[in-house]
Amino acid sequence: MYELAGNLHMHTPYSDGEKWHKEIADAAIAAGLDFIVVTDHNLWVDGVEGYYENEKGRVLLLVGEEVHDTRRDPQCNHFLIYGAEAELCRHAPNPQELIDAVRQIGACGFLAHPHERSLDLLNEPELGWHNWEVEGFTGLEIWNYMSSFKSAVARRHDRLMIKNKLLAKLSALPLVLHPEKYIVGPEAETLAKWDELLAQGKRIAAVGNSDAHGTPMSLGPITRFVFPYEFLFRAVNTHVLIRQPLNGDLAHDKALILGAIGQGNSWVAYDMAAPTKGFRFSGHGVGKGIMGDAIKMDVGATLQAIAPTRCHMRLIHRGQAVAEAHDTTLTHIPVDDGPYRVECHIPYLGQKRGWIYSNPIYLY
Ligand SMILES: [Zn+2]
Ligand SMILES: [Zn+2]
Repeated sequence: MYELAGNLHMHTPYSDGEKWHKEIADAAIAAGLDFIVVTDHNLWVDGVEGYYENEKGRVLLLVGEEVHDTRRDPQCNHFLIYGAEAELCRHAPNPQELIDAVRQIGACGFLAHPHERSLDLLNEPELGWHNWEVEGFTGLEIWNYMSSFKSAVARRHDRLMIKNKLLAKLSALPLVLHPEKYIVGPEAETLAKWDELLAQGKRIAAVGNSDAHGTPMSLGPITRFVFPYEFLFRAVNTHVLIRQPLNGDLAHDKALILGAIGQGNSWVAYDMAAPTKGFRFSGHGVGKGIMGDAIKMDVGATLQAIAPTRCHMRLIHRGQAVAEAHDTTLTHIPVDDGPYRVECHIPYLGQKRGWIYSNPIYLY
């Protein structure tokens, strides 16, 4: 198995981001990522995919798209598409039609930032997923760092009972300067939804991303670039495991990475709290598999997770923790079939944080 760290949600000036592909690739190299997927809003950009290099290393830049219906009121339902190679935003007004179109061409699609808060005083609407009746999507973006920031600011406004715009901006300033102190993990609602869908017998893969825009924020006379791309690429990422090494050929390497993303051979990583490199979750039954795989049960079936650092590890089956450890390994002999996923928490800046969210192993 070969491990790659990547980030699959970010914007350039083609939509509402600040930096172009080359500059974003430099930021990804500086942060130590192996691949990135640029997902401009409602725009499939051709001709920019490939390996970008500088004196410090190289990164594979791929193109995806974040599609939503721009005419919908209220705005919501952002959908991340990978591997489509074509513009699909004409289907955006009907989310099920969009999901079906993505499936038909063998691409994958994830519901972006499915639960988040609005920031009414700062004119930031809630952009979660509303049409939960849809079927057939690949998975959920269970953790979106910029969306977590927005929700953390909204919670602070609630707590401080902020009622006017200037106070709303001022009270957001500590989070703008030190978001890492305030962001603790994915939205609980999103994790609960993931477990609910998994318990229905669906295969739902998870990704975790930055949603980097490199956006300037103005607070009276102060304009500051908040959340530079490089900072965000050191925060919430997706690590994938591929079964063959990359060989430098764009089509070959892209197929391996997107295949692992679609299958869920991956975990959502909060690399800022501690590096997650080396995490593994595997199962043995009739045959072996890793996270994202389906494995046939037998009487000697075992599940094992290994973390690179001692942490609080929990094995979750249909929304319930069935095993726990404060250690670097967790081993479990399952008695029931179904989806099993691992969650790891770790202390960071004096507080317990969500650290690793593995994709499930599906025992059948
Ligand atoms: Zn979005
Ligand atoms: Zn976005």
